Amino acid sequence: MLKTGVSYFGSRIQRHVKEDMQDIKDHNCNFVVHTFSETDLEFYKGTMKEIVEISHGLGLEVWVDPWAVGGVFGGEAYSKFVAVNLEAREISAKGESLPAACLNNAQFRDFMLSWIDAALELKPDVFFWDEPHFYLYPLDQMERDSTLWACRCEVCRREFKKRFGYEMPVESNDDIKLFKEDSIIDFLKTMCEYVKNRAPKTENQEPRTIKNAVCFLPFKGSLGGIMDWSKAAAIKSLDIIGTDPYWKVGEKDVGSLVRGFSKKIYDLAQEYNKEGQIWILNFRIKKGTHKDIKTAVMAAHKEGIRNIAAWSYLGTGCMSYLASDDPQGVWDTLGEAFFGIQKPDSL
Ligand SMILES: [Zn+2]
Repeated sequence: MLKTGVSYFGSRIQRHVKEDMQDIKDHNCNFVVHTFSETDLEFYKGTMKEIVEISHGLGLEVWVDPWAVGGVFGGEAYSKFVAVNLEAREISAKGESLPAACLNNAQFRDFMLSWIDAALELKPDVFFWDEPHFYLYPLDQMERDSTLWACRCEVCRREFKKRFGYEMPVESNDDIKLFKEDSIIDFLKTMCEYVKNRAPKTENQEPRTIKNAVCFLPFKGSLGGIMDWSKAAAIKSLDIIGTDPYWKVGEKDVGSLVRGFSKKIYDLAQEYNKEGQIWILNFRIKKGTHKDIKTAVMAAHKEGIRNIAAWSYLGTGCMSYLASDDPQGVWDTLGEAFFGIQKPDSL
């Protein structure tokens, strides 16, 4: 079945959310990604349960996203965890404490498991592990300075030495890149397995299929993410693999950019028997470039991708930092693009 979806955040007012979920259906989406940030976890858990119920009631599949939780996933939200648990923060190569939790820190991992327990109570269909990464400095700076990386906390240093037999250096090297990548893979695997193991218990012991999805950072993974995507694809408890090849303002050939990443995801998904997903840029879209959205959706579909989603609802117009020039126009264009790829399937 062709899956088309969009992410949603910005309103926790139930009647407005209901209207928006209907709008999402009317724009040819069959799933919605609800962000479930640390703020939601602490203050809106019951509300989020209602929001998931509203979404399900309209026939939408529901995904939940640990939006910027611990500062290790994608998302425009703050982390209280890193503000309170100073000893669980990442340490830079130069020894500075950073506003992101260390993926190898047991306390953070426990916190993530409690996030999963809370998210399971919302009864979602899919857990969306969005861009898990170690702390990122601006890309151009990281490329110039080999001491701009993390994490070199006590836990990471101990684990690194255990594996490689020497002190974790200050200057980045291939062993450090490999260590970071494998740390992310291990973290992701732990999260995915926990979801699968815990899922039935929240449903009165009845077996229930909950899926895990990951979104890889599409740029050079060695700088903070996963270099070798096949390591993640090999995780048994992971069902959906994807990436978000967002184009920059002025990108000349959106089609070939999205085609390239779509092919990579499609091939990997085929090899590991996973579902492939591609994310479509729906924020900071400039006036006069809406056709790029259709180009991107068509390109992904043509490469065999059958799960396509956009970030975010209504051209991300509710967040000025990411807003498109004409949010409604962006949204309508996405709806038309989704209609365009759904139509041949329904014949
Ligand atoms: Zn660390």
